[in-house]
Formats: sequence, structure tokens, C-alpha cells
Amino acid sequence: MDLHDYKKILDEAYEKIPDNVKKLSRFEIPKVEIRIESKNTYITNFNKIINTLNRDRRHFIGIFLKKAGTMGEIRGQQLFLKGTYKENVLNRLIEQYAKQYVLCSICNKPDTEIQREGKKVFLKCTACGAREEIKEK
Ligand SMILES: [Zn+2]
Repeated sequence: MDLHDYKKILDEAYEKIPDNVKKLSRFEIPKVEIRIESKNTYITNFNKIINTLNRDRRHFIGIFLKKAGTMGEIRGQQLFLKGTYKENVLNRLIEQYAKQYVLCSICNKPDTEIQREGKKVFLKCTACGAREEIKEK
């Protein structure tokens, strides 16, 4: 069986799954909702996003701000960012974080946890058991 057939079978199997099940099993990060105020950006649905990612806030913010190249902090329910940012830029940074620190690279499920061993960081998947070192870029 070649790879193309395999993908076709997967697609067909996926089509047969009822929609309500698909919704539950697919990992979707909420798109950012933002407010620009005096040349700064507030992500107003930050709580929703961090709850979906299911990671430590400080861990997320540390990496997110570095990627965005700015300063920021939690203000109430919102994430404050110095400077103005477009939604699609922020969404992309969050997706990058999820790919690196949340989603299993083998089965693509978000049922993972971050494990530290000395200076190394691993992403352990509780769904398929994979454990991979996270390369911090
Ligand atoms: Zn996995």
C-alpha cells in the first residue's frame, strides 16, 4: 500500500466520524481577540487560549514574548503586549508554541506534559507514550 492510499483511507475513515465527535477530538486553539490601546495590544481572550493549551502561564508567556520580541504581562484576564500586533501574527506565534510544547509530534494529540531532566526538556505524550526532546530555538 503506498502512502497516497493510506491517506485516502484515513480521509474516508475521518469522514465517517460524526461531527460532534470530531469537534471533541480535534485540538483547536481559540483565535486571538485583541484590543489596541495607546499603541499597545491586549489579548482579551488570553484565559481561553491558555486553558486550551493547558500549559503553565509563565512558561507560555516567557516563550511567547521572546518570539514576539516584546515585553508584556498578565493584566487581569488579559495579556498585555507592548507595541501593536496583528491577529494573524499572534495566532501564528501561538500555533508555533503549540507545535513545539503541546502537540505530540508522533500522534499530534495535545495530551502531553513537559518533563525536565537537567538542561534537557522533553515532551511526553500520555496518549501514545512517545517522548521527544524539545529543541529550543
Ligand atoms: Zn503521541
